[in-house]
Amino acid sequence: MTKLYLKKGREESLLRFHPWVFSGAVFGLEGPDPEEGDVVAVYSARKEFLGWGHYQIGSIAVRMLSFADDMPAGGPDLAFWTARLQGCLQARRAFGLAGFATTNCYRLVHGEGDSLPGLIIDWYDGVCVMQAHSAGMFRARKMIAEALQAVYGDQLQAVYDKSEGTAPFKAGLDLGDGYLYPASAPQGLCPRTVLENGHRFLVDWENGQKTGFFLDQRENRALVERYARGRRVLNLFCYTGGFSVYALAGGAVSVDSVDSSGRAVELVEKNITLNFGADAPHRAICADAIDFVKDAPKDAYDLMIVDPPAFAKHRGALNNALRAYQRLNAAAISAVAPGGLVFTFSCSQVVDRETFALAVFSAAADAGRRVRIIDRLNQPADHAVNIFHPEGAYLKGLVLYVE
Ligand code: SAH
Repeated sequence: MTKLYLKKGREESLLRFHPWVFSGAVFGLEGPDPEEGDVVAVYSARKEFLGWGHYQIGSIAVRMLSFADDMPAGGPDLAFWTARLQGCLQARRAFGLAGFATTNCYRLVHGEGDSLPGLIIDWYDGVCVMQAHSAGMFRARKMIAEALQAVYGDQLQAVYDKSEGTAPFKAGLDLGDGYLYPASAPQGLCPRTVLENGHRFLVDWENGQKTGFFLDQRENRALVERYARGRRVLNLFCYTGGFSVYALAGGAVSVDSVDSSGRAVELVEKNITLNFGADAPHRAICADAIDFVKDAPKDAYDLMIVDPPAFAKHRGALNNALRAYQRLNAAAISAVAPGGLVFTFSCSQVVDRETFALAVFSAAADAGRRVRIIDRLNQPADHAVNIFHPEGAYLKGLVLYVE
């Protein structure tokens, strides 16, 4: 196996279990030239063994799979993947997510948070949807699908690979979304109705965004349910209506759901009907959320949810993103009725919690309203942050009380 040597002093972060080797830290390679996705062994300049992981050309040269000398001869095998996935499932059971009747969807693998950098797997009541973000995980996808069968047994009905949009390379690899299990594409499986905190949601992993559903807002939706009673709710960037369903369940007098994706808006309608029948006090609106809230009559809503897509996908976009968060939040804070609540989120990894709070602070000042922060929100346990990889904390939110 190829050995990768680090420059002098560059082993510090690996000794603290940070899962990435940046290309700038690499001194050189010894052995056959690795292909993207091959496993390499990583050594310090003093030739101390540090661990092993997936090699890739790019700013992250190695994504570490282990900091121990435990690589199976011939590379990670079925037993390796099975043991790792079993560990992830055991953690979800410990978090009170797997094996419960009222919630049957959760994130099984959250990349670095689960010490499996580059791999996302979401569980939708018997269907696993996988997204590889690295060459190594993409090349391992068939073995990972086999390992899922070993872990879940009869409970597993299908494994769908949705890496086409996430795998960071195209050349020479047979990208194309589809079922890894069973051998022929199952009929009538997608979309599928799952349960989250007892609420029903249709999940369409084949055509939807990401893996089909935003599982990371589960806890925050439950908080909206607690606050919704008697309020007129506006759910901006609603996607398939997660927050809208919880708001109605919590006793909202009306809910308006806004998204610019026509397909998402169709699914919101279906999800509302699925839970509350056709006469629920709900409107699904296909529109630009920013224009909608700017034009909204003042005082028409007592609770707003503002959950936009990541405005900054990389550091270079940070300043523009912060201005966009400020404008959007200023519009929401201006429009909400006196005594109203704004649940506002950012899922941009490069915008940290304090920077986001500053953007919202500026927004409140622009709106000229008195605002209290009454809660600070997070990503849930199945999207856990590896303590050695704080960059994994991406979702943050504030609940604002606006006088
Ligand atoms: N709150 C959702 C997830 C939001 S994801 C949930 O709980 O499931 C972000 C959503 O914003 C996507 O559905 C995307 O279609 C939508 N979107 C992106 N840009 C938009 C815009 N300018 N106006 C309205 N919706 C937008």
